[in-house]
Amino acid sequence: MDFNAAIKENNFRYKKQLGQNFLSGTNLLSAIAADCGATPDDLVLEVGTGAGALTRALAVVCKKVISFEIDTDLKPIQEKTLSDLSNVEVVYSDVLKMSDGELSAITNNEPFKVCANIPYYITAPLILRFINSSLSVKSITVTVQKEVASKLTAAPGDPDYGSLTVFARLKGTVTKTRDISRKAFFPVPDVDSSVVRIELDRTDLSAEEFKKVNNTVKIAFQNRRKTLKNNLESLSKGGKNGVSAALAAMGKSDTARAEELLPDEFIKLTQLL
Ligand code: SAM
Repeated sequence: MDFNAAIKENNFRYKKQLGQNFLSGTNLLSAIAADCGATPDDLVLEVGTGAGALTRALAVVCKKVISFEIDTDLKPIQEKTLSDLSNVEVVYSDVLKMSDGELSAITNNEPFKVCANIPYYITAPLILRFINSSLSVKSITVTVQKEVASKLTAAPGDPDYGSLTVFARLKGTVTKTRDISRKAFFPVPDVDSSVVRIELDRTDLSAEEFKKVNNTVKIAFQNRRKTLKNNLESLSKGGKNGVSAALAAMGKSDTARAEELLPDEFIKLTQLL
């Protein structure tokens, strides 16, 4: 399929504000589809159809692709590149503005895997949107800036270890599956990328518990220079002393900082507070 020809024939103008850096290269696109682990039994949800290059690679390995695209100018291009595929549905909508109920109606309440080459500016909101949802999301495989991949895969104590790292690990296992040179995109962006897969395989926390732990994590990392005792005082009835006691019960000192705590330790700390 000649995606570039379809783009040129329609005099399409790339919109920087929508993060329109399209991927090409059949081998790379098939590799990303494989990274998401899609099988012929899977429904895959893609965010950002673009010209349909990744959509096509996904469609050949999975049962069905539901792909969301915000830019209707791409419709005539997609009619050329995707119309022969009976297992692809493009929904022209901003996926971040859709409720769980709306998404559940579109997916028929079926479990799904997310796989997407997303605009960088929606990386955190998109990952959090699917991590926090009540939908049956099996995994999230997305292209991210190489630096964000380092954050998502960082170990405690690493300067890259932050709230996004912990949010993702509270719900599952994060793996970087490959790096992608900026040259694989058109227009060429200013940064290199990586593909990360978040397998949402942790089910031990209820939605209510997850919300509470998320709140602790958010506040704990609000000021990285401050100790947990100072950052979290508002969460304990006993103020700073209450946080101190909770840390002591976990064998942590008064000077402990957010970046030292494992995701499971944030769960414990939330329970103690
Ligand atoms: N999947 C294509 C590819 O790999 O070549 C296009 C990827 S491009 C990086 C991102 C696409 O997401 C663009 O087509 C853009 O218009 C679309 N997009 C941006 N924000 C969106 C949103 N909130 N919901 C749905 N699509 C969005």
